Amino acid sequence: MVTGGGNGIGRACCVRFAAAGARVVVADLMTDAATETVQAVEDAGGEAVAVQLDASDQESNTAMMRTAVETFGGIDVLLTAAGISHADYVSGDRSGNEELVAEAIERMADPASAFVDMELAAWRKVLDVNLTGTMLAVQGAARQMVASGGSGSIVTIASVAAKHPDAGPLAYAVSKAGVWMFTKSVARLLGPANIRVNAIGPGFIQTNMTQVLTEIPGVEDMFTTSLPLRRLGTPDEVAAAALFLASDESSYFTGTILHPDGGYFTD
Ligand code: NAP
Repeated sequence: MVTGGGNGIGRACCVRFAAAGARVVVADLMTDAATETVQAVEDAGGEAVAVQLDASDQESNTAMMRTAVETFGGIDVLLTAAGISHADYVSGDRSGNEELVAEAIERMADPASAFVDMELAAWRKVLDVNLTGTMLAVQGAARQMVASGGSGSIVTIASVAAKHPDAGPLAYAVSKAGVWMFTKSVARLLGPANIRVNAIGPGFIQTNMTQVLTEIPGVEDMFTTSLPLRRLGTPDEVAAAALFLASDESSYFTGTILHPDGGYFTD
């Protein structure tokens, strides 16, 4: 089961997991995006089903779990990729990109104002989707795994922003730090039930979320010139790490984080 499976990293995970033999529940806010991922899985000879999910909503998460159990009989692996970089983020919507860059430049020039003027609703939205959304999906999947008496592997998507305040806007970085602490804490709680919980902390990956970096001249270079690998990562490079953590190849890993980040953390 993959949340945020309609685009980017989530979609790459669905396709890679299916190629490794998984039957995949593709959950996303946009049903069309989830359906496109199902098509991509089926075109490659795999099996998948699309589910509409608002990650921040408990009932929506419960319905997603029900679909997984009714369609495929249970949940072995959960990957939580649903996420937003800021409150107005809509995956693939390019309209606000110039404004975003202008705001980021403004923030750099006057960081104190950017903080004191921040709106509570915008803060809450990011925390609701990224952090509470992760908690709800993990709790629902763990309930199913515990109830079925089986083992399981849960992979959350944090970010390098979980550990470095410069890698994303304030609410985003705090939400991802929360995802990382949540992952470690829940790994301790679920380990005795033979359920492993690990995180991926990607660096800058080429998806809709980072299109602003690639579309505005000069911005991508600002991010990549200091990276040892001098380039953005691909969703498939993140999916490779996710498959490792999801599979029995990582059977002695729990409560850890892998950073496909091009060397971001070498400084
Ligand atoms: P993306 O292509 O925009 O994928 C994010 C997906 O999450 C979209 O399909 C989006 O759906 C979905 N989503 C957003 N809000 C949702 C909600 N309330 N309920 C269900 N689904 C929702 O971006 P991405 O880069 O692949 O991001 C995937 C994850 O990786 C995110 O958690 C992100 O924070 C994390 N990450 C990304 C990078 C990077 O550089 N790209 C780096 C570190 C971490 P819609 O189509 O409805 O918008």
